[in-house]
Amino acid sequence: MDSCIFCSIINKKIETIIVAENEQAIAINDIFPKAPTHILIIPKKHIINMTDISAKNSDVIAQMALMVKELSQQHPQFNLVCNNGPEVGQTVMHLHWHFLAGTDIFKKLF
Ligand SMILES: [Zn+2]
Repeated sequence: MDSCIFCSIINKKIETIIVAENEQAIAINDIFPKAPTHILIIPKKHIINMTDISAKNSDVIAQMALMVKELSQQHPQFNLVCNNGPEVGQTVMHLHWHFLAGTDIFKKLF
């Protein structure tokens, strides 16, 4: 999708540092970090959010989960957050998981 910033990163139209990559997903640092480590895990396919997952594209989720596992080698304790819809804080309408480490900001919530 042309107007999507994550698709532009995936298609190398916008240059950024990719911290991890596999067949179906990439990981980049969040440009507005909310934690000492704040990495975004993004599928290479344009999927809006978790409501857009079906049997046809659910393999992407497994690849994203494997990337979480890979990142956990460096950061064994972390939070994984996924905002689904603008009213709950999704700012880019391309599925992404926030991998947050080095903070306890969610301790009061859960
Ligand atoms: Zn996209």
